[in-house]
Amino acid sequence: MKIAVAKGDGIGPEIMEAVLSIFNANKVPLEYEFVDMGKWVFDKGFNNGMTPEAKQTIEALGLLFKGPMETPKGKGVKSINVTARKTWNTYANKRDFQTLHGVDTVFSKAGIPIDITVVRENIEDTYGGIEHMLTHDVALSRRFITRPGSMQVIRYAFEMARQKNAKRITCGHKANIMKITDGLFLECFHEVAKEYPELKADDIIVDDLCMKLVTRPDLFDVVVLTNLQGDIVSDLCAGLVGGLGFAPSANIGDHISIFEAVHGTAPDIAGKNIANPTALLLSGLAMLRHLGLTENAGLIENALLYTLENGIHTGDFGDKSIPAVNTTQFAEAIINNFGKKPQSGGREIIPNKPGTPTPLKLEYNSMMVSKEGEAETIVGVDLFIESDEQPTAIAEKCQRHAGVKFKLVNISNRGTQVWPTGSVYTNLVNQYNVRFESIEDYPLNQQDVIGLYVSMSGNFKICSFELLNMWGDKKAYSLAQGQ
Ligand code: NAD
Repeated sequence: MKIAVAKGDGIGPEIMEAVLSIFNANKVPLEYEFVDMGKWVFDKGFNNGMTPEAKQTIEALGLLFKGPMETPKGKGVKSINVTARKTWNTYANKRDFQTLHGVDTVFSKAGIPIDITVVRENIEDTYGGIEHMLTHDVALSRRFITRPGSMQVIRYAFEMARQKNAKRITCGHKANIMKITDGLFLECFHEVAKEYPELKADDIIVDDLCMKLVTRPDLFDVVVLTNLQGDIVSDLCAGLVGGLGFAPSANIGDHISIFEAVHGTAPDIAGKNIANPTALLLSGLAMLRHLGLTENAGLIENALLYTLENGIHTGDFGDKSIPAVNTTQFAEAIINNFGKKPQSGGREIIPNKPGTPTPLKLEYNSMMVSKEGEAETIVGVDLFIESDEQPTAIAEKCQRHAGVKFKLVNISNRGTQVWPTGSVYTNLVNQYNVRFESIEDYPLNQQDVIGLYVSMSGNFKICSFELLNMWGDKKAYSLAQGQ
């Protein structure tokens, strides 16, 4: 089996060399095709940080093992790591957090074992980066949560939990506040859960999740979250097991998957052969398991655990009374410990399965368009306008534009209703949402809405607008606070 390897920038080449030396010593049956990606490729003028040949190779092989990469600052180019994840639709970011003996944490000292897998949606949410200044004072970020995108990552999480023999799978969310976006993600979670009756599926509000993770991490097994919440929670979990140096990361897609360490290029120690290769090695082991190379992964991981247990460490962690080894010596120590079992029991050695490049590929996991079950009707519109006037003055002007089809029902500012009722204590910014609805169920179409838009634009700068849709008798929009 052949995979693409990008060594990365800074400490990347050193830690990649260390990891591949361990793989080679263990006779891991993989061939490596090295591809050109990273800072020096940006510097050569390739705006996405990879050469066309690199892109072609990765797409042909379906698997990229990468070191950390630097995105040049101030050149207007996007992060190569984010570009790679989005371009190839690696929709699930999977990170395993396990107690490592030899890596002291408050939990290891208290004898509380940790074995948590966080699955984070990797494409959507605010990471679409679709942002606008609506007025000089008001910025807007669009947060997309889609049904197919949520189903894809949640299905992956359940499937992975089944393979891990997990007992519990938990959805972290904020659906109490973001009823429509996080509500949709949560709805998808409970829908998929019905197909996995052997798993205890529950949900928890993300702030409560954070509190419980730092007090009782042993109660959690698999946790699935939307992108931003998952980003924060996964680094919190990295802290529980000793920091980013011990946190592997897999970006899983249906066709292409990317395995990488989550730490950066560590420019302060690059070229000194002192970096810790553990995170990249753990990501490499996750990749071997993904490829069905479970025996190699188990043998190498036991040697790593044995090495850590014996106090062998690079300069960034471990018992300071034991002298640190360098990157090469750390890799050699692991190689010398092949066949040894850590006292902690170690990992089970499962014979390699015949390799398929993407063993977790799900047949039904393509992006699908949901069928619309109920009739959709337009019942109104939210117009987001710029104004520094008071709500009553705005209402008076808006009512003049309502015509025979619309009525002004509500004006809100930063999501809080300020007209027809409100409080003088609500602070206002220069951007309002004026909500018009149809008069007595008058059926509306898009031309009606555009007509209102044109009329209103005589008085106001309209920053953006959203249709108010009903699906059957269900509102497909939120109410303002206090409405
Ligand atoms: P960093 O992770 O590179 O470094 C933070 C600190 O941790 C430094 O003191 C560093 O020496 C230490 N450190 C990191 N990895 C280590 C290791 N394996 N062994 C020992 N010590 C280690 O974070 P940063 O300084 O914020 O970022 C540096 C560069 O890396 C930036 O250009 C950034 O864009 C890039 N970066 C890339 C990735 C990626 O490729 N996935 C992720 C994060 C940052």
